[in-house]
Amino acid sequence: MTGLDLPATVDVREVGMRDGLQLEAPVPLAGKLAMLEALVATGVRRIEVTSFVSPRAVPALADADEVAAELHRFDGVQFSALVANLRGAQRAVDAGIAHLEYVVSASDSHSLANAGRPTAGAVAAVGEIAALAHGAGGSLEVIVATAWDCPFEGRTDPSRVLDVISTGVEQGADQLCLGDTIGTVTPRRTVELLGAVRQAAPGRPLGAHFHDTRGTGQANALAAVLSGVTSLDASVGGLGGCPFAPGASGNIATEELVYWLTDAGVATGIDLDAVLTAAAATERAVGHPLPSSLYRAGGRNAPRGPFVPD
Ligand code: ZN
Repeated sequence: MTGLDLPATVDVREVGMRDGLQLEAPVPLAGKLAMLEALVATGVRRIEVTSFVSPRAVPALADADEVAAELHRFDGVQFSALVANLRGAQRAVDAGIAHLEYVVSASDSHSLANAGRPTAGAVAAVGEIAALAHGAGGSLEVIVATAWDCPFEGRTDPSRVLDVISTGVEQGADQLCLGDTIGTVTPRRTVELLGAVRQAAPGRPLGAHFHDTRGTGQANALAAVLSGVTSLDASVGGLGGCPFAPGASGNIATEELVYWLTDAGVATGIDLDAVLTAAAATERAVGHPLPSSLYRAGGRNAPRGPFVPD
């Protein structure tokens, strides 16, 4: 009995390998594989492992094919890849990854910066990409970027999100996700938009992707779960941002999410201490400190030492 009306389970998708690494200087394959092995050992059941996009646009993920070639070593994890167009989807399927995430920005300016075409052009490709994923035995999730706010246009009109959602569902999207691309959203706006999307696409699995840029990431995650969302993206150590969204930084940290979900009796299948081990592996791979507060505090029980002035 927690006093919170939470579901029995929440399905966490680990996005550190893709969203987390995409802004970093390219990490050698061995470092990525050490990170991946540590992430698999956490018990997480879904890992967004790379993206198949232009290596010029995102040099950090230029080794998508090499990473994909290693995935046969791991059992019990569903690996997915992010794609920005049909060509990327074909590359992913050819590399053996059939669970695809296709990003559609709900604002035209971000869509042009991210995918080189406005929202309507991007959403029109959902059908072909869904057919490709389904033909390969996989699935397609449509992720709506700039669902709440756009770095170039400010507030995104919710009707634009609902248009993307309804077209995406018509064209074969199996799952949906809303992305707070620049980390501006609040619990109130989280719940409002998730509720509207759920009404527009009843019965379709709906997840959320938050950034902690303004310190509201975990509050938004709680608001989302309280409103019925059972699928959340998170990144080990809080790594990550978006290269086409100025000012975007910091996905919600997997260990912080697992910390409060586990405390509330919500099963994630993820071991908190193993996530901290994975955060250490990630820190070694990227070569700089990670932003996660829980990781920097030393874990769930280790208090910082007493404050000693210089
Ligand atoms: Zn993100």
